[in-house]
Amino acid sequence: MASTTLQEPSTEVKAFLNSDLKLLINGQRVSSANGETFEVLDPSNNLVLTRVPKGEAEDIDRAVKSARKAFETGPWRKLTVSERGKLIWKLADLIERDQEIFAQLESLDNGKPLAIARAADVPLTIDHFRYYAGLATKIHGETLDISVPYAPGAEFFDFTLREPVGVVGQIIPWNFPLLMATWKLGVALSAGNCVVLKPAEQTPLSALKLADLFVEAGFPDGVVNIVSGFGDAGAALAEHDDVDKVAFTGSTEVGHKIVQASAGNLKRVSLELGGKSPSIVFPDADLEIAAQGVANAIFFNHGQCCAAGSRLLVHNKVFEELVERVADTAKNIRLGPGMASDTDMGPLVSREQQERVLGYINSGLASGAQALAGGGKPEGLDAGCYISPTVFGKVKPEMKIIQEEIFGPVLVASPFDDLDEVIAKGNATEFGLASSVWTKDINKAHKVAKGLKAGTVWVNCHNIFDANAPFGGYKKSGYGREMGLHALEMYTQVKNVIIQIH
Ligand code: NAP
Ligand code: MG
Repeated sequence: MASTTLQEPSTEVKAFLNSDLKLLINGQRVSSANGETFEVLDPSNNLVLTRVPKGEAEDIDRAVKSARKAFETGPWRKLTVSERGKLIWKLADLIERDQEIFAQLESLDNGKPLAIARAADVPLTIDHFRYYAGLATKIHGETLDISVPYAPGAEFFDFTLREPVGVVGQIIPWNFPLLMATWKLGVALSAGNCVVLKPAEQTPLSALKLADLFVEAGFPDGVVNIVSGFGDAGAALAEHDDVDKVAFTGSTEVGHKIVQASAGNLKRVSLELGGKSPSIVFPDADLEIAAQGVANAIFFNHGQCCAAGSRLLVHNKVFEELVERVADTAKNIRLGPGMASDTDMGPLVSREQQERVLGYINSGLASGAQALAGGGKPEGLDAGCYISPTVFGKVKPEMKIIQEEIFGPVLVASPFDDLDEVIAKGNATEFGLASSVWTKDINKAHKVAKGLKAGTVWVNCHNIFDANAPFGGYKKSGYGREMGLHALEMYTQVKNVIIQIH
């Protein structure tokens, strides 16, 4: 089902792609130290969109030094919190001005439909920066009453200061390139930190465009540094002795490496890793809404969501009916380039991901799982990294496809009979990122919400995100929470001050 009405990138986007793209280090646009660049591909046809600098350890080191200088002696910490908030708000205004450029870059680079980038990625980004712009003036310590038994009669005044952590390294993936950068940058800057950000090698474009806007908004030199590069640049950031904290979103495998690399200087770490999140449907749910909802839970962003509802657990009474509806939805999804107006689902981000997901589909088929929809690559779209939306029915617990994160448009379905059983099944993976429950029974909703070991439980919805709502994992899905007030915990440290009043 190839789409036909392909939108040309705008003049501004073409100009951006044709420009000499640079790193942002110490407020300057610079080439990588070795002068090397690498190709950025359009996953709908694997043609080269542009080239970007290949930052390596030396560039990371330059960026960390500039962030350190900005943090210790630059104007950043001398700004009032109101001035800091105003700068972040200004950045949000500039993103809003350039929203169409960001939406097109995101679609071209990642493969997602332009309509989705316009409706979700970019508006969420703008909202998110505004939330943290507002929060800059609301971060505060507390006063405490203390009783000191070994100092009878003494009077004390105890207060806390909530201070920034310092220089923060941030490493992000390719599934929501702009939004992942935003989730990391917004809170870090609001709390007064200086940052070195490394975008994913597959999708560096929106981060480099964002770099333009940090300069235009007037952020002091060195407060935000952006270094495109490969995993070795990420590793250099995670290891760097002068980085106080590293924040990572990506695979559990690299998450382990980040923790090991952090040991050198015992830097703080926060991790947002993979998931194998269950969507749980009870027979009393509105089945039409539930079918649409659980299909969206897995197929949104082509299943390339850490919170994707990739395991469908359906009560036996309605299993056949619901799974059939989801399979029908999957069959009707129109595949095509993100820039085509009639595309529902674009290509995966890269050939590597396409091969990886195909490997899982083949392993499912080989182990006897039945594909009720999809089950491979679509016909006639070989130039791009496409995978047909796939639904596997009655999957066995020992199969790889029900245990491991596939990170593609592949749903595995299995039935259940009662509440305790479905909570146990919901928890039966090493992950614990998200989940959804579909029921009209408030009691069941509460019981499942309490029983699941997951950082987010959605009831009668899935993939609902807001800057005010904390997000993060249980178990091997990571630690620390992004967004909301909770994210401040990861980007501030508490100093206690005790004054004796004589
Ligand atoms: P990944 O390797 O974990 O990449 C995430 C980020 O970490 C990228 O910026 C990557 O740089 C960087 N990186 C790679 N090796 C590193 C190292 N040793 N030290 C520090 N940073 C390093 O993920 P991927 O290879 O792109 O995708 C593989 C699988 O990870 C996916 O199929 C999916 O299962 C999972 N994943 C999960 C999420 C999520 O949101 N939870 C997001 C993406 C992927 P490069 O891009 O240059 O390698
Ligand atoms: Mg990797």
